[in-house]
Amino acid sequence: MTPVLLDYARLLLRRNEDMNLTGADTVEEIVSRHILDSLAVERFLPRGGRVVDVGSGAGFPGLPLAAAMPDTEFTLLDAREKRVAFLEEACAELGIKNALCVCGRAEELALLPDWRESFDAAVSRAVARLNTLSELCVPLVKQGGVFVAMKGADCAGEAAEAAFALRRLGAPEYSVESYEADGIAYAAVVAKKSEMTPEGFPRRFSKIKKNPLQE
Ligand code: SAM
Repeated sequence: MTPVLLDYARLLLRRNEDMNLTGADTVEEIVSRHILDSLAVERFLPRGGRVVDVGSGAGFPGLPLAAAMPDTEFTLLDAREKRVAFLEEACAELGIKNALCVCGRAEELALLPDWRESFDAAVSRAVARLNTLSELCVPLVKQGGVFVAMKGADCAGEAAEAAFALRRLGAPEYSVESYEADGIAYAAVVAKKSEMTPEGFPRRFSKIKKNPLQE
């Protein structure tokens, strides 16, 4: 573990007292459950491009990935201002220069020309069920890019449930990739975006939530 990421774990614990950032109580727990899980998905991401972490919260997985991949530009996106204020403070204190912290909603930003289909990859952890999450993330990814959804080890059913949504949004091919971090089993759904997202997507969040895309 690099000293920067240990400093990040300490900062999270310090700020947790007034900001409720994590359920973890110790540096070891943050490293084991959050930082190592975040770092493990580096293998699914392209190097050297732009990656958006949708719903970054206190910075997982985007902040540890930004520290580990200095040649890649990260956008840490979250809908909550307080989370984004923490992310800005953390990047400044830790000297992380390749991360931009943005407050906003993914499905609204994806309608703006500067954001739509502009990232080489989108990654996301613990934000929504995959059939909903796909509509928040896939429209942000370029054709030829990748969407990586971090899930529990048993996510094959959730992935199958989202297959129609992924196809409709332009990412018809996906695989479920098992991985381990600090002895804990996880899986990531890795979807290739091979077609453009049709106009009309993403829909408003209330619609996405009420009627996730399905056959
Ligand atoms: N990814 C982090 C992690 O694994 O610890 C945070 C997970 S937290 C449970 C979910 C985060 O997603 C919240 O901080 C919330 O504000 C953010 N979020 C939910 N929907 C969003 C949206 N449509 N656009 C941007 N952020 C969103």
